[in-house]
Formats: sequence, structure tokens, C-alpha cells
Amino acid sequence: MSSDPADQPGPGPLRQGLAGLPRYPLLFGPSPVHELERLSAHLGGARVWAKREDCNSGLAYGGNKTRKLEYLLADALVQGCDTLVSIGGVQSNHTRQVAAAAARAGLRCVLVQESWVEWPDPVYDRVGNILLSRMMGADVRLVQAEFDIGVRPSWEAALADVRADGGTPYPIPAGASDHRLGGMGFAGWAAEVAEQERELGVFFDTIVVCSVTGSTQAGMVAGFAALDGPPRRIIGIDASAAPEATEDQITRIAEGTASLLGVDGLPPVVLDDRYHAGVYGVADERTLAAMRVAARLEGMVTDPVYEGKSMAGLIDLVSSGEIPRDSTVLYAHLGGQPALNAYSALFP
Ligand SMILES: *Cc1c(COP(=O)(O)O)cnc(C)c1O
Repeated sequence: MSSDPADQPGPGPLRQGLAGLPRYPLLFGPSPVHELERLSAHLGGARVWAKREDCNSGLAYGGNKTRKLEYLLADALVQGCDTLVSIGGVQSNHTRQVAAAAARAGLRCVLVQESWVEWPDPVYDRVGNILLSRMMGADVRLVQAEFDIGVRPSWEAALADVRADGGTPYPIPAGASDHRLGGMGFAGWAAEVAEQERELGVFFDTIVVCSVTGSTQAGMVAGFAALDGPPRRIIGIDASAAPEATEDQITRIAEGTASLLGVDGLPPVVLDDRYHAGVYGVADERTLAAMRVAARLEGMVTDPVYEGKSMAGLIDLVSSGEIPRDSTVLYAHLGGQPALNAYSALFP
């Protein structure tokens, strides 16, 4: 992250990131921040801005996982690994970003794609993210198993296969989250926001972010605590529909990230479970309405799995006054648009 004074060139492509850890640059630089004037006017209240991880990188459309992978990819190279192995649903944005990071660094990539979502689109396993992962040369393996953010047997099997072929795998858990370094990318995001606030002369008192595997929000919580600035609310919008597991994981990763950064005394994690539409990966009418509003007022495209749900949360929280009218809100747009190709039936 360029705003970090410790950000000096390291060996090869590696840079020194936060806490002296190696970081492999994958982003264009700081992701753009801009005001959503028409959405703010429509809501008649809080000033709403967006920070755009959906256009943070030239690697296969970027996204929040690309930011996290800067730290995990560097670690894989330092350890001498030659194959990134990861897991997600069939339309996982995360596995597509792992495939891109592997391609960029000249590593091999094995992806376990589980049937986390029951969505009856005939091209669900052919378009969008999975198409891109195949194009980038990943070894894509479709597996029958239900949604779970934990460690999976199919993933263990993929790691064993790589070793049996003489390779050295680097395991990356779902969402690059349940990993020692999972929170580092978004701890850096917090420092980036503080720098952009200084440049723009604004202060975001409230941040709205979608959470499923948890390290995005966890990194923000730890990263802002490390900066020791004025207090602000970080509101996670659960899209896992398994909010206890997600909240536990956010808390655990936030604590681990904080200890890497040498901070203690974290604020409690806030995860709102009212907007997940009851099931991971499927949108309800409120999600779709939010997607339409963002698209029609701002040309800002969100997906039905993640960002449409956090947008639904933002719209409702501002409309109801739970986020006060005088707030300045930052909507963390985390990417995810490629999955839209598998959801054409939502917009007939
Ligand atoms: C993975 C993902 C999220 C959730 O982030 P976590 O770190 O898993 O909580 C939100 N939005 C998009 C587009 C994602 O790909």
C-alpha cells in the first residue's frame, strides 16, 4: 500500500507491507473513492460515498480478494510454493481472483468449486467467474457439497493431489479469510481510507460492508483500531445467512490481525443479519430493488450474492434513520459483478 511509509521495495516483485510483512502488489494503487450524489439525494439523508474494490486491479476485474491476496501470494512465494490451492462456490469471485493472482505470479492453480448455491441456470457452471478461471488456466474441479465457510475434505484432497504430483501447494481457505494473513489486506484498506479522507476533506463516520467469510470486515476493524483515529461505526451486512459462524470468524480474524499489528482493545464486531434474504447466493425482492436503485441512479452495478444485499442494508438503514441523516457513509463496494452472468433470469 503506497500510503504506508514502510512500503519499500523488497526482493523481486515483493514490497514491504503492514507490520513488515511481504506484500505482492496486485492492485492499481489506492482504490477510487467517490460520492454517490443521486443515491444520497434519493435517500434524502446521509451523504453516501463508495470505495470501489470492484475496479481496484487490472487482474480479471479485481475485487476484495485481490487486496487480501497481496499478502497471501507474497507468503506463498517466500515459502517456495508453486501451486495456489483454494475453494469456493461454483460462481466464487474469490477463486477467480486466486486464478488471476496465480497467473500473474507464474504459479499453478487448483480450484475446488462446490455447489453452494441452488440456482437453476443452465449455464451456471459455464459463465462468469468459472469461465474466467478456466481461461486463466486454473485446474477447476466441480464438487458436490453444501455451503460452509470451514475447512473441507475436497480441499484436503486437492492439496494431497498437488503433493502427489511433486508440487508444493499453498492452501488458501474460502475467501482468503481463515488464514493468519487474511485480515492484512483490509487493515491496509483502513489506512488507505484515512489517507483519502485527508485528501478529500471528509470523514466517514459509518462504513457499510458485506460479510461472508469475514476477513474483509475483520481487517477493517483491526486496521482502524491500529490507526487510533476518531471512532466510527463499521456495519457488516451478513450475506452468509449463517451469521453466527460469520460473526465468530470476523471476531477471531480481527483479533489475530490486531495482534499482528500490535494493537489491543478492539471494538465489538457489528454484523446485521436482516438483509441476507434467508439463503446464501439467492436474492430476494429487496436485494433486487437495491440492485436496481444503484444501477439506475448511479450506473453502479452490484451482484445478487453479496453487494446487492449490502446495498439493500445501506438503503434501509439510511431510510429508517438507523444511520442518521447527518452521517457521512462509505459503502465498501467489494466487486462480484462477473457472477451476474449466471443470474440473467433476475432481469428478464
Ligand atoms: C467475498 C466477497 C464478499 C465477502 O467478503 P468476506 O471477506 O468473505 O466477508 C463480499 N462481496 C464480494 C463481491 C465478495 O466476492
